[in-house]
Amino acid sequence: MGDPVFIFGDTDAAWLTARHLRAAGAEVIVASGRTPLETPPAAGRLPETPGVELLPGAVPTGCRGAAGAFEVSLVVGGRPITRAVSAVVIAEAEERLPLLAAYGVAPAAGVVSLSRFGRDELSPDAAAGKGPQVVFISGLFTESHPHMAAEVMRAALKLQTERGVHAAILTGNLKVASNGLEALCREARAAGVLFVKFTGTRPEIRQGADGRVSIDFIDELTADAGRMRPQLLVVDEQPAPSRAASELARVFGLETDGSGFGQADNVHRLPVATNRRGIVVAGGARSIGADPATEAASAVLEILGAVAAAPGDRAAIEPGRCIRCLTCLRVCPHHAVTLESRPAVAPAACERCGICAAECPRGAIRIPGLEADALPAEITPAASTAAPRLVAFCCSRSAALAARSAEVLDREALTVVEVPCAGRISPQMLLGPFGRGAEGVLVLTCHADNCHSREGRGFAHRRTELAAAFLALSGIGADRIKVVSLAANMASEFAQTVADFRRNLLTLRT
Ligand code: SF4
Ligand code: SF4
Repeated sequence: MGDPVFIFGDTDAAWLTARHLRAAGAEVIVASGRTPLETPPAAGRLPETPGVELLPGAVPTGCRGAAGAFEVSLVVGGRPITRAVSAVVIAEAEERLPLLAAYGVAPAAGVVSLSRFGRDELSPDAAAGKGPQVVFISGLFTESHPHMAAEVMRAALKLQTERGVHAAILTGNLKVASNGLEALCREARAAGVLFVKFTGTRPEIRQGADGRVSIDFIDELTADAGRMRPQLLVVDEQPAPSRAASELARVFGLETDGSGFGQADNVHRLPVATNRRGIVVAGGARSIGADPATEAASAVLEILGAVAAAPGDRAAIEPGRCIRCLTCLRVCPHHAVTLESRPAVAPAACERCGICAAECPRGAIRIPGLEADALPAEITPAASTAAPRLVAFCCSRSAALAARSAEVLDREALTVVEVPCAGRISPQMLLGPFGRGAEGVLVLTCHADNCHSREGRGFAHRRTELAAAFLALSGIGADRIKVVSLAANMASEFAQTVADFRRNLLTLRT
């Protein structure tokens, strides 16, 4: 693999990834902001042998280069250092924000957060001293996260069945939509865990000077007033990205999801890929409740694929044509364009989306097999049908798959042109078919937030609008071009889109 793999985080997912990589013969650097690094029991200790460098108290400050040849800058113990690494794994733990304030209580002998309860209070000795009742509150005044709901139910079940402690769960909206949670809920009820649900009323929670709480409520089924005075109140938590997540995303050039986790909401990135080839996010760095062993295995597979020799079909810039406008540097969503004395594409980072080639004002970017603005020879369909002749540009990750299984009438009058990303479709490609006998052009992209190259869909929509405006001005008609978003499993919608578009084109014939 060449240079070591840089792993940031000291979670189960991080250490398991390090162990797998060492087993495969790769060297690793494990770094974390924490001092000292703490190997979680589940991952086992990684020996400090040749091939393993540990960097506690590390703060990443920069990451240049591409898969196989990154240079990571860090500050360790106040001293700036750099490391040449082949790949990067970010596997920090998520944060857990206790919702104590939301319920109007403070930590005390009688009130703990869910994490603290799991860490300190669930041991047999601790639980034995808790008396007859422990009350959990989860999703009472706020939405509960399914992972938190699972933790609450497991802890309550354990108290009830193994510790002889009566457990109750007060909830407003307990999320049981994840795998196995319905069954867990049934098991807990069957074991005697009391579930009290509040839909129209709220319990009143008061904390006394001794730290213990009393809970007054109206039973919504019987309308009777009730009171609980548990020995211990366990309060649920809101999962969130680590405090360093946004800075790590900035330093490593990563797109984040709506909550700030280091993997954008994008089905094409699952399980652990990011917008930068060779940089993966695992465990709590990308989502809540992911299984560390699965995350580690996925991270290793992704890295091995990223550092394998880059195929020879990546984008390349022709120096003689380039005017150094840096458009390609700005538009590349995968950080594959670098700038030394002139812009260049790092083949190992290039995803061959074609966005740069479509945007380059000089046609200076060549992508083997996707020559700029060249349309397939078969673009003029057989004239054996009365159906309007169409060209449909389809993203190979979505609409092209739908097109293959769609039952389209008069298929010989439809030319499907597969592109690696809808962002590859240049204005010349959109207009070219009209000079070759096509009566209409369809542009079929991924849905919003589902584009593997993030911006490809947006580029396609904007260019189609411009092409429509040009067609309107030239008298050909804006209605002869249309952009639609389709997923890979939308074969019948593909056929319907073609049929509807053709029907519209027939009205333009007269
Ligand atoms: S967009 Fe084209 S002309 Fe501009 S810097 Fe890139 S390769 Fe050169
Ligand atoms: S083809 Fe896509 S990934 Fe490759 S350099 Fe161009 S914009 Fe970047």
